[in-house]
Amino acid sequence: MHEMSLAGGILRVVEQAQAREGFKRVSRLALEAGALSGVEVSALRFALEAMSPGTLLDGATIDITQPPAAAWCMACAQAVTIQSRLDDCPLCGSAQIQPTGGHELKVLELIVHDDLPGDAAGDAAGDTAGATPQGSPASTGQAV
Ligand SMILES: [Zn+2]
Repeated sequence: MHEMSLAGGILRVVEQAQAREGFKRVSRLALEAGALSGVEVSALRFALEAMSPGTLLDGATIDITQPPAAAWCMACAQAVTIQSRLDDCPLCGSAQIQPTGGHELKVLELIVHDDLPGDAAGDAAGDTAGATPQGSPASTGQAV
């Protein structure tokens, strides 16, 4: 499965970033798979989720977007967007279009943390317990 090897490559990118920066966990990974990259988003998400337990991506939110690809229509002489390399020009229907982008799979965002999930949960629980509920001015119903 093509997406399995892509997911392995993404995990290596994350591990290399960890080797450089020394973080302990990842809370969010955002990827962009161009419309012409050949990546099937649902299959890639499945592969990443299947692979993540026990890795740095364990517990991370994974977002994958697939923006339309940019292309140049020679008939219209202008830039257009296409969803597949088989698409004709959406404006004039010409097949004389040249893709100019949308082939890459790239990491858009990697949100990392220096603490472990256990530490964060402890802190969050403490904060919640110690927080004083505050009514917002709007909820008092008092007109001035
Ligand atoms: Zn056109």
